[in-house]
Amino acid sequence: MYKYPLFELNFDYQESEAIINTINSRWISTGPKTEEFENLFAKMFSVKHAVATSNCTVALHLALQIVGVKRGDEVICPSLTFVATCNAIRYLNAIPVFADIEGVDNPTISTTDIEKKITSKTKAIIVMHYAGFACDMNSIQILAEKYQLKIIEDACHAPLSEYHNQKLGAIGDVGCFSFFSNKNISTGEGGMIVTNNKDYYDHARLLRSHGMTSMSYQRSVGHSTEYDVVDFGYNYRMDDIRSSLGIVQLNKLKSDLEVREKLRSHYISELYNCEKIVIPFLNKSHFSSNYIFPIYLKGYTEIKRNYVRQILSGFGIQTSVHYPPVHKFTVYKEFTSYLPETEKYFCGTITLPMHSRLSTDDVIYISTRLKEILS
Ligand SMILES: *Cc1c(COP(=O)(O)O)cnc(C)c1O
Repeated sequence: MYKYPLFELNFDYQESEAIINTINSRWISTGPKTEEFENLFAKMFSVKHAVATSNCTVALHLALQIVGVKRGDEVICPSLTFVATCNAIRYLNAIPVFADIEGVDNPTISTTDIEKKITSKTKAIIVMHYAGFACDMNSIQILAEKYQLKIIEDACHAPLSEYHNQKLGAIGDVGCFSFFSNKNISTGEGGMIVTNNKDYYDHARLLRSHGMTSMSYQRSVGHSTEYDVVDFGYNYRMDDIRSSLGIVQLNKLKSDLEVREKLRSHYISELYNCEKIVIPFLNKSHFSSNYIFPIYLKGYTEIKRNYVRQILSGFGIQTSVHYPPVHKFTVYKEFTSYLPETEKYFCGTITLPMHSRLSTDDVIYISTRLKEILS
């Protein structure tokens, strides 16, 4: 175990209590707690509809399906993301078309490169708000309008992050969130689809539960006695045990993000003067969830960067790399592309610990060790 892990759960007695209460209620699958979680989520994220799912990977799958992506359609996506973003495209036998990032100081998808990749087959764009910082949504929305494309936001990093007073995830056609254990909201596994479009919402709810017109809970409370199957759906449901965890976590989210924001500014003041380090998003003013704290080491090769990580590990500091580019993975060989900025960023990036249990002293310790190693 690391003395300074990348992430720690912000759980206390409230999470244990919530789970026990749900178990004692004798309803543990999708039911009243999931509905409460969805309603609270929609309210906090200022969006009309929210549908809880078993994880974000399936949320992305549903999102692409409900906006109408079909076999052979092209979907533009980043390569600097978790592989699930792109896998969701392939579940529908659609074609992932990778776009580069803006640059090492703004590693979100490049609008210029998106436009270069648009063809007559392009149906949608998936954006990913890296580290919790907003993609350039204004210019992406202008493109989407011009070429009649749908926008899916992979907002896994960005709960309550903002962009011109709008919440990320609620700007495009559909937004997707993850509650995997190391995310800002942790339920072990879990996800959420948000949308302002009632048709998308209805479709997502149907597909989440086998295309059935009612779920067990509605039948158990007598709202319905039979069902039809009107679409070819899946079992992508969230259960009430996890939803009750989600409610507690949502109520803690704001204070968790405030701590993270302070920690980011401490990191910045410690590392700002180190000429070898680029801190991405330094000039961004919109509120960010700070899901992770990545830095970029100027001119580093992958080997040299890994050497730095190894020494940090010796000091008990866990680091990560967000992300090995998807277009370089073996299973993406046939979809690969030339993405110089993504590849450059990958070689030099290191993610440092970031979570609300981290202290200012921890940040100073980690930054001091890092600066020693680099000098
Ligand atoms: C975590 C994550 C996912 C996948 O979420 P799961 O809930 O684990 O399926 C997808 N995209 C990004 C950017 C993520 O960080």
